[in-house]
Amino acid sequence: WGNINRFSSATAAEELITPAVQISYTQHLINGQFVDAASGKSFPTYDPRTGEVIAHIAEGDAEDINRAVSAARKAFDEGPWPKMTAYERSRILLRFADLVEKHNDELAALETWNNGKPYLQAAQSEVPMFVRLFHYYAGWADKIHGLTVPADGNYHVQTLHEPIGVAGQIIPWNFPLLMFAWKVGPALACGNTIVLKTAEQTPLTALYVAKLFHEAGLPPGVLNIVSGYGPTAGAALASHMDVDKIAFTGSTETGKVVLELAAKSNLKPVTLELGGKSPFIICEDAEIDHAVELAHFALFFNQGQCCCAGSRTFVHERVYDEFLEKAKARALRRVVGDPFKNGVEQGPQIDSEQFEKVLRYIRSGIESKATLECGGERIGSKGYFIQPTVFSNVQDDMLIAKDEIFGPVQSILKFKDIDEVIKRANATRYGLAAGVFTRSLETANTLTRGLRAGTVWVNCFDVFDAAIPFGGYKMSGIGREKGIYSLHNYLQVKAVVSPLKNPAWL
Ligand code: NAD
Repeated sequence: WGNINRFSSATAAEELITPAVQISYTQHLINGQFVDAASGKSFPTYDPRTGEVIAHIAEGDAEDINRAVSAARKAFDEGPWPKMTAYERSRILLRFADLVEKHNDELAALETWNNGKPYLQAAQSEVPMFVRLFHYYAGWADKIHGLTVPADGNYHVQTLHEPIGVAGQIIPWNFPLLMFAWKVGPALACGNTIVLKTAEQTPLTALYVAKLFHEAGLPPGVLNIVSGYGPTAGAALASHMDVDKIAFTGSTETGKVVLELAAKSNLKPVTLELGGKSPFIICEDAEIDHAVELAHFALFFNQGQCCCAGSRTFVHERVYDEFLEKAKARALRRVVGDPFKNGVEQGPQIDSEQFEKVLRYIRSGIESKATLECGGERIGSKGYFIQPTVFSNVQDDMLIAKDEIFGPVQSILKFKDIDEVIKRANATRYGLAAGVFTRSLETANTLTRGLRAGTVWVNCFDVFDAAIPFGGYKMSGIGREKGIYSLHNYLQVKAVVSPLKNPAWL
């Protein structure tokens, strides 16, 4: 992900890349079998380049979730998954990752077709990161263990780290493959079984990789995939009495609903990865050209559809004018077009709803008297393309500075000193990420400790790695994903206490 900005040097769109890919899987995957929805219903999925329907997908509701949960329950309670050796589980994860690697180009093409992200971004960064993540968690599978605990009295005390059971997982559309990996990798490594609900906009790649998982030897029922809408399939999963844990990624509003459904049903533990309004702070001593490029990348990457997008660009007043001129020039150079074209940096927004929402925020920026430096319009008459847009003179109380826009709209704000910018950067309900640009170690230390965010990138942005934890403070979420931290989400700790008779030592 961090390497993705290598594409930003492109100046012109070249020929179309046309990898061969077909849509082979459109049904639910339950108990190792592709099956129609219980209701027989289906829903359309689209190509955001044109808005045209590319396939009809089985539409899951409560009954499909019931069927998937009972398959996952059986695979957990009766085995084989939690009863296999950790080494066997690890080998299946490794075989799966290797198979995905072989299907890199088809998967990337399917992701681009359904989501609109640049094909090379998917092919050279996201699918390889998916593979890396499964290699990483395959490595953890046989290294999960409890402790021997020294306790008062003649007792032998140990902790067992056990899988939590059936995990329900609900993912969004902006990184369909990576969100699958962040959730499924650690859950399976710990020995859990899963029912995963994909985002209704992007059901295709999860079904494709789930098929590969079964080819790699995953037993039936261990990973079940249901496609469908949030209020029906998603809510049924979050409130299911036989689901032992919920992991959700999506908007803060839906996160609250999921937490409530979990609490009202069986009080299952919930981890949430939610929205953000991340500050990107450029100090007066920053290396300006580098900061311009990374601030651009931090906001515009993935069509601006990143939970951690650097969506409030704070620039020190002494370098503000230079930064603004260069940031605007960079946005004007951004190559927008068919994401299958070589050199294209920005494809369409995901769907008409997001497209309209972003255009509404642009209008709100203009109405609130921020200065529109460039962009602001749709591109073409079909599909969901939006011009890279830059606002300057943005004030903290404007909607474009407060709400998550989730689109290619950069908001530039001016600041005077470090204490002030820390206060302003923290004055948000979110706390997902932050970027800091300075050559001073002292300033960097002050900012990294002062900012209330789950990740602070210093002189870099969007550096992701399977081992680096990710998650939010405040209303950006609960818990962390990736790295060792994600294992805690999928384990129960059991203390086992037994008397010691005549021990040689205590
Ligand atoms: P969303 O909340 O509308 O949908 C996310 C998922 O929740 C989808 O699968 C959807 O079907 C499901 N859902 C919707 N209503 C539901 C309900 N009542 N019960 C159960 N499930 C329901 O969000 P979105 O628009 O698809 O995604 C964009 C949001 O996701 C942004 O706010 C973004 O910041 C956030 N996001 C966060 C992270 C992170 O790691 N923090 C990563 C990606 C996206």
